[in-house]
Amino acid sequence: MGLLHRALVFLIVAVAETALDVRAGHISALLLLFIEGSVYMAEFASALIFFLVVVDRLVFEDSVFVVSEKIKNSHILTNVIIFLYICLNEIRNNMDIRVGQGFDVHALAEGLPMWLGGIRIDSASGFVAHSDGDVAIHALCDALLGALALGDIGHLFPDSSDEFKGIDSKILLRRVMDIVEKEGWRVSNADITIALQAPKIAPYIVSMRECLASVMGTEVSRVSVKATTTERLGFVGRKEGCEVWATVLLVK
Ligand SMILES: [Zn+2]
Repeated sequence: MGLLHRALVFLIVAVAETALDVRAGHISALLLLFIEGSVYMAEFASALIFFLVVVDRLVFEDSVFVVSEKIKNSHILTNVIIFLYICLNEIRNNMDIRVGQGFDVHALAEGLPMWLGGIRIDSASGFVAHSDGDVAIHALCDALLGALALGDIGHLFPDSSDEFKGIDSKILLRRVMDIVEKEGWRVSNADITIALQAPKIAPYIVSMRECLASVMGTEVSRVSVKATTTERLGFVGRKEGCEVWATVLLVK
């Protein structure tokens, strides 16, 4: 049943119950909620109705004359509250979420600047790449694009193009975010794990989170960056490269 149908049902119920001064409207509301299959909502409505009925009896039933008007008002109020609650539930049900994951690897070479998570890292070696080699941002971009099934950054910003030669990856992230936002999505949170043997990344993590959040236009609390070594195992452990995993959740 659509929102308009529900609005109509509640309007009829509210008018009928006000005219008749009965609680039939409450029962109708409960039935409707059960038909909709929302047990949680029905329970909430039951509790609310019970509360209002008790308030009716304890507070308002001091004179027969007063009862009528007050109870009528409480009937209307009950229906309005239930209806608003149903509207909120409808909005919640319409909320869409998407998860995306990204992964990237870059080789290390001596004498190159190291950019990671948008921050310049003090290191004798950096990442070999067509862009600035910010492997963390690349994984993050892939996660964002993956959530919307829009391919990956290699597809979007080809390394055969001179436009992207040595480009600051923050520009690429901002462009990806423009696409995300244009499609009506916003970032609920992002979680990034960097595997690098050396140098130690811990001192840079806060700056990385602040930088990425600012480029993405979101709060720092929504962006997580974690760093690990691979206990000297594999190509990361041999200091030949860096790998990064990123996961994002988008909401609409
Ligand atoms: Zn990359």
